[in-house]
Amino acid sequence: MAYQLNEKLSRLQPYVPVAETAGIIHLDANESFLNLPETLRQKISEAVAQTSYHRYPDPYAVELCKAFAAYYHVKENHVTAGNGSDELISLLISNFLMKGETVVTTDPDFSMYTFYPALAETNCMEICKGNNFSISSEDLICKVQELHARMLLFSNPCNPTSLGLTKQQILQIVKNVDALVVIDEAYMDFWDLSQSVLGEEENYDNLIVLKTCSKIGVAAIRLGFAVSNEKLTGILHAVKSPYNVNTLTQKIGSLFLQAQDVLRSRTKAIQTSRDALQNGVEAVLQRHPGAFQLYRSCTNFVTLRLPRADALHTYLMAHGISVRLFPGFLRVTAGSETENAAFLSTLEAYLEEEN
Ligand SMILES: *Cc1c(COP(=O)(O)O)cnc(C)c1O
Repeated sequence: MAYQLNEKLSRLQPYVPVAETAGIIHLDANESFLNLPETLRQKISEAVAQTSYHRYPDPYAVELCKAFAAYYHVKENHVTAGNGSDELISLLISNFLMKGETVVTTDPDFSMYTFYPALAETNCMEICKGNNFSISSEDLICKVQELHARMLLFSNPCNPTSLGLTKQQILQIVKNVDALVVIDEAYMDFWDLSQSVLGEEENYDNLIVLKTCSKIGVAAIRLGFAVSNEKLTGILHAVKSPYNVNTLTQKIGSLFLQAQDVLRSRTKAIQTSRDALQNGVEAVLQRHPGAFQLYRSCTNFVTLRLPRADALHTYLMAHGISVRLFPGFLRVTAGSETENAAFLSTLEAYLEEEN
């Protein structure tokens, strides 16, 4: 009787997902603050009612990938659907790297980029962002080449800094490294689709773009996409588990992505909320100069850097508002008007009490 967990499992630091708590304002998970409109919910109910529950899902989610391709103007045969982009990140790490090979990511960035490499027994090197959370394409290229990295993986625009690199900067990286470059564009919809590298996958043998439906309105169904050239898409199809996206998610995801007007207007509403939140926080900063540093967001959240981020986090929590705490900064998701107002007045109250 001497079973012991292996080293990687004994060392594992589990990801702690945020739990939905009744009565709390959740600005902590970058979800959309809007539920789907009634008309679309009705269509979904009808489609769900027709489900062949006794059959497996379509293994390649053809209808769904077609709807995705149409909305984002990419080729259908460049698309792989996943059970959230989390599944795709895990697939990329565990298949495009051999044991002991190196993936480069940036710090701070999405926590899953370091979580999966630890499980896959690959090396993960994090390149620290400089002051003002900046990072240059030159630095990234140098590090990737110097380390003989096999993959470079980061979010653009970045979660949690809210900042983005331009399309030109991203392509410069793709052209100048020998590694596979995975650009996670989870938040690109809230910035500027002309900065997206979607469509460029055709021109490079080392580019994969990740997308998710979680931030644009349907976090509940777990749906993400990888976009890559035909060859890489063939590999992704070959290594994924056969029925990775369930039938209900395929149906709901197809209807969601086909409702292009709804998607566009929801995206706009989230951008409007983000701008209002950003302006509100800026106004608070003007009344309390130097209280924190604020970044110009190209996402659906704003990032505030301050030395005692944990104290503010605790104060907000005590007032029923949950935001995401990082070492030395907070990430606040754009919410409804009421939610944003609650956050802003509580932030102001905290700064007044503190002084
Ligand atoms: C939220 C988020 C994801 C997660 O996407 P899922 O499709 O919900 O798994 C991926 N990448 C980044 C950068 C995110 O912030």
